[in-house]
Amino acid sequence: MARNYIVWNGEQLQLPKLKHDAVFLMVSNIAVQSKICEYRIHLSYMKPREVGEASLEGIEEHGRQLGVRAEAGYDLDVGKGVPTLVNRGEEGVEYFNSVVGRRWIGKLDLSRPTAEAAIVDVVEGVPILGQVDMVIPLQGSLGIVELKTTGNRFAVIHEHELMQAAIYCVMMRRLGYNCSNAFVVKVIRGTSFNLMREADSLASRLSSMSPGQAIRMGDVAIKGAKIDEATIMRDIERAMEYWLYKRNPTHNNSPSNCSHCDYWNSCPFSTARGMHH
Ligand code: SF4
Repeated sequence: MARNYIVWNGEQLQLPKLKHDAVFLMVSNIAVQSKICEYRIHLSYMKPREVGEASLEGIEEHGRQLGVRAEAGYDLDVGKGVPTLVNRGEEGVEYFNSVVGRRWIGKLDLSRPTAEAAIVDVVEGVPILGQVDMVIPLQGSLGIVELKTTGNRFAVIHEHELMQAAIYCVMMRRLGYNCSNAFVVKVIRGTSFNLMREADSLASRLSSMSPGQAIRMGDVAIKGAKIDEATIMRDIERAMEYWLYKRNPTHNNSPSNCSHCDYWNSCPFSTARGMHH
């Protein structure tokens, strides 16, 4: 397979030249670029990072909730400086053409809750990849569930998480699906709740929720995303300018961002450097 092609829906897509040799853009990256700090994404493509126990526990809980093994290709070893990205170079092409192709949304039966659906939207020639944790049938339409896990009992749902879910919903609509709502479902690690098992009862609960509404059910927090298509498309285009070499990365070095950042001690803009961590 030529390095600069990926196969999507039976067609070959020629890849544009993207920063860091990226093959596609990940929706989760776009959300962090827009709502937290673009420089964090920039550094994540430049430097390996330490993978701690907490990240691994998160990946395990994620897999348990969806009844799947931890994502193939994310080859994480605790404590080693490992690149956590699969979307560049030949590895990225291979990942896209095998893993993503198998889970293409067009091949899936969406009449029941479906875990791990891949959607791709090509914006200005750039493939944007969404790996949706769950597509869930609501009354007469489809909903998005973005699953997050946390070790914190308050289970706070963040803006970038809501944006990620909202982008998936907009992508689904652009592909012709009737996607009405998007939710972030945050579960506390170790909970007895299981998303796959309880998806049907969750669907009826989600059907009655409005955008922006938040509820709590035991170890699970849920919030509906507000979906403003025009704003989301603008944010995507703004994020793509960075990937297409049209501008340098911006940084948002608020103390709360930097103190929760993997690069708090090495980033040149960090406001948390030298602080007790
Ligand atoms: S340390 Fe702060 S400015 Fe630097 S990447 Fe992290 S959040 Fe951004």
